[in-house]
Amino acid sequence: MSYQVNEKGYYGDFGGAFIPEMLYPNVEELRSGYLNIMQEEGFQKEFRQLLKDYVGRPTPLYFAERFSEKFGAKVYLKREDLCHTGAHKVNNTIGQILMAKRLGKNRIIAETGAGQHGVATATVCALMGIECVVYMGEIDIKRQAPNVARMKMLGATVVPAKSGSRTLKDATNEAIRDWINNPVDTHYIIGSVVGPHPYPDMVARFQSVISEEVKKQLQEKEGREAPDHVVACVGGGSNAAGIYYHYLDDEKVNIIAVEAAGEGILTGKSAATSALGREGIIHGSKTLLMQTDDGQITEPYSISAGLDYPGVGPLHANLFRTGRGKFISVTDEEAMAAGLQLCKLEGIIPAIETAHALAIFDKRKFEKDEVVVVNLSGRGDKDLNTYIEHFNL
Ligand SMILES: *Cc1c(COP(=O)(O)O)cnc(C)c1O
Repeated sequence: MSYQVNEKGYYGDFGGAFIPEMLYPNVEELRSGYLNIMQEEGFQKEFRQLLKDYVGRPTPLYFAERFSEKFGAKVYLKREDLCHTGAHKVNNTIGQILMAKRLGKNRIIAETGAGQHGVATATVCALMGIECVVYMGEIDIKRQAPNVARMKMLGATVVPAKSGSRTLKDATNEAIRDWINNPVDTHYIIGSVVGPHPYPDMVARFQSVISEEVKKQLQEKEGREAPDHVVACVGGGSNAAGIYYHYLDDEKVNIIAVEAAGEGILTGKSAATSALGREGIIHGSKTLLMQTDDGQITEPYSISAGLDYPGVGPLHANLFRTGRGKFISVTDEEAMAAGLQLCKLEGIIPAIETAHALAIFDKRKFEKDEVVVVNLSGRGDKDLNTYIEHFNL
């Protein structure tokens, strides 16, 4: 059994492309072209060059000695926080901007919640001199002012989504509406392993550079390519997909996915999709999502804006359903404590999303000689105000 996508765009029961008919030509153009384009020598050359010289790859695989000592396992941190723009998201936006160019597009649209994907998209559009329009909920624009300013400095137009709850899902609806109206010249850059096929697979492939590097780095450090455990936080699931990718079908590697429990799974203020979600359709794919009895998407909550998403990508829904991935949820409180702990033990201030992944060491025991690789998905600069408020710094 493989945990990769099949030719029909499914991971087990999940995935597919559930889209309005008017979007079909856009998605079909991408679906029929993406694999060939990604395999072109010229594409690979340009992608690899930019990852190296612009993003700063390969990112280090760092043996966290004091952290390891404390928790009694060999813990390695994959330093995606050192990527240009401060997180893994840019791996995907670099890939997709090159894809857009190959498809002859000269305009980019994106949706963003916390603004991180908006910034990563605006960055690559500036790099390429391509017009960029980012849809963002009106509420999120108010909550995430620094990222709105960043996007504007990078030359993007930020359009407020004023309908519904005025958050991420409404921004997504606006972006889809735009794409329907501009099918010829516009590419829609989705920010995680979500959306209709081929997006989850395309984004996972762009992010798979993470585990490609881990294999080599672990070989050098441990004399083997595979760790015993691989750990990542899951919002939509792109940093997780990237670090799991080359280990998905190697069942000796234990896959651990960490979700945001918010104030607690049963409090009504949570984003723990595997615990609370049921099968449904969101953003054009069949997956697990948090919904009411009549199928309306529920508003998720997490202290970390990047995990505040009501679904997970279909790859992860399948890892959960099949038991291939072990899903653990971590509360706001636990994540904040784990974030501060990494600062003190290793001198690294993690993003609060990432802090969720680190919190599992307080919840779960590992053996002394086991190798655990954690995806350090992003740095905490953007979260400074949340840290300050939480700890009265
Ligand atoms: C956006 C973000 C995430 C969550 O997104 P995924 O697609 O699940 O990776 C996690 N960590 C950081 C630092 C982020 O910016």
